[in-house]
Amino acid sequence: MEDRLKELVKQVEFRQEELIQLLERLIQYKTPAPPARNTEEAQQFIASFLEEKGFSIDKWDVYPGDPNVVGVLKGVRTNQYKSLIVNGHMDVAEVDEDENWNSDPFLPIVQDGVVIGRGAADMKGGMAGALFAIQLLHESGIHLPGDLIFQSVIGEEVGEAGTLECCRRGYTADFAVVVDTSDLHIQGQGGVITGWITVKSKRTYHDATRREMIYPGGKLFGASAIEKMTKVIQGLQELERHWAVMKSYPGYPAGTNTINPAVIEGGRHAAFIADECRLWITVHFYPNETYEQVTKEIEDHIQSVANADPWLRENPPVFEWGGSSMIEDRGEIFPSLEVDADHPAVHTLMDAHKSILNQQAIVDVSPTVTDGGWFGDAGIPAAIYGPGKLQHAHAINEEISVEQLAQYTKSILTFIYKWCHTAK
Ligand SMILES: [Zn+2]
Repeated sequence: MEDRLKELVKQVEFRQEELIQLLERLIQYKTPAPPARNTEEAQQFIASFLEEKGFSIDKWDVYPGDPNVVGVLKGVRTNQYKSLIVNGHMDVAEVDEDENWNSDPFLPIVQDGVVIGRGAADMKGGMAGALFAIQLLHESGIHLPGDLIFQSVIGEEVGEAGTLECCRRGYTADFAVVVDTSDLHIQGQGGVITGWITVKSKRTYHDATRREMIYPGGKLFGASAIEKMTKVIQGLQELERHWAVMKSYPGYPAGTNTINPAVIEGGRHAAFIADECRLWITVHFYPNETYEQVTKEIEDHIQSVANADPWLRENPPVFEWGGSSMIEDRGEIFPSLEVDADHPAVHTLMDAHKSILNQQAIVDVSPTVTDGGWFGDAGIPAAIYGPGKLQHAHAINEEISVEQLAQYTKSILTFIYKWCHTAK
């Protein structure tokens, strides 16, 4: 069994050209999000690719023009051996018109040992590596004892939960690996949730009533929603500072858990007292916290702030958390993911990494967020492990090292093989 694996790993070396061609093919599908709704063709390619390798295919529209694809390769001893989800997103970061690329972002070039094109690092490189590993396993006639599930999802770049849809559809496994940009580190992540806080007056007043609501003897119990929102913002800053002082997580600089007042909207016209003000905030939290916990902390704290103000006490701020898309409903959630370094799959992954790279795998945390959090949220043990550097993700002339891509392919191949050969 080990000899067969060694032979396969060698194949990656001999057939590097094919690996690069597969990556180039994926980059050529123009799948930027925004604008999104453009992954149909690419996802059909993945579906056909997997179907040829014996996978049964489930393809469904998350949005029109943006289908998810899940391929399931049933293990030959499915109930006795460990199962694995390999997950990646097909959408890539948008390309602005004024971005000055050396060449067409969707016509990849290979130059000085790197492949350049939109999505090379984030994350068509990881997709190509994992798919090529699957191709080699198939061609060698190896039948994995445990189930292998490949998920190609949409919408990750705009906070659309293609991966959540997979979880909701019931796909689960003993472990999930998200092949997103991690520079071959094994990573967990903090989480992000956006929210809207609304301060709203029950009545709308004319500008001329301001004197009566703010000066002695005016007797008008009213307020400007904009002015009251400044108290909310102050409250958020106090809580943010408190979190920075009191919370920490290994691998993150202190104070990574920020509450950003990102957008404010309020008032209707200069002839009125502002009767409504809405604040859009972005909350970052640590891997050992959930979005339910941190949003409750924020609500409790702001409620206390409101209780200390006579008008806000009667007109308490309203919270709306998350959302399913930054382009459809201006909201998103990326749950956190904590990697359990003692989990047998993480050990297997570390061993696979070491066997190829001759050095210990680094287990740490991602400075950004991926779909990995949805597995954490669903209670499926998971880790992020992919090729490419974050500094290249979303960048002009986005690139991935061919050498690292080949190493990754060998390593993920080894991991898939070994984990799906692990008895339950
Ligand atoms: Zn990504």
